[in-house]
Amino acid sequence: MLIAGNWKMNLTLEESLNLVKAVRSAGVKNEAIKVGMAVPFPYLVPCSELLEESENISIGAQNIHAESNGAFTGETSADMLLSCRIEWTIIGHSERRYLFHESNEVVKAKVERAVASNLGIILCVGEPKEVRNRGEEEDFVSNQLMESLPAELPDSYWSKIVLAYEPVWAIGTGLTASPKQAQTMHAFIRRQMESTFGSRAKGISILYGGSMKPGNASELLDQQDIDGGLIGGASLKAESFIEIIRQAEQIEKI
Ligand code: PEP
Repeated sequence: MLIAGNWKMNLTLEESLNLVKAVRSAGVKNEAIKVGMAVPFPYLVPCSELLEESENISIGAQNIHAESNGAFTGETSADMLLSCRIEWTIIGHSERRYLFHESNEVVKAKVERAVASNLGIILCVGEPKEVRNRGEEEDFVSNQLMESLPAELPDSYWSKIVLAYEPVWAIGTGLTASPKQAQTMHAFIRRQMESTFGSRAKGISILYGGSMKPGNASELLDQQDIDGGLIGGASLKAESFIEIIRQAEQIEKI
């Protein structure tokens, strides 16, 4: 199980270091749980330096460029992250897809770059409200997945890829998919991955994201096919993020 925070474009350096220190001192009390925090680029190195001794807590990025280097002002590559000992990034978050117009094609190019560099990823998918209202969410997510992933992944990469189902209507809105809605989609994604990539894909971790907070984390994390959470707003405060980690530690299926 993975409990990952996505800080987006929030916090000062001082607030960031304090948050990482608080999570580090709270610790992870169950070996089956990994904790991650996807932080803004300037904070990657100072935050990860605080976690050099922590086996279960890591710092990741929120985005990469699809090229490995070149004239791309303002961008950051997978190899740059790895050279700073940052080993994973989020790719395809809905804010990147909608606010920065990243198509499935762009997302796929980023995934391919991460695979080529051996950088771990959390690949996000999820449908907007109008698609769910039409009852077409499974087709939409299936299409996003198939168009965002390369046709084949090296055997050695399967341990580095995590998926996140994040219904767009639930991100930052306070609305959450019900445990049943989330479980249904997660089971669908797992079946889809297995039928496309075979048995290696069966054990892939699929996180739920969309207004997860202490008040709803347990019942979401308890669902059979939900293997953790990608948490925005509630990851910005030590108290709520640590409370979600504590709840994850109690989940019986892990
Ligand atoms: C996210 O940004 O990935 C997210 C799930 O945000 P929030 O928890 O604030 O809905």
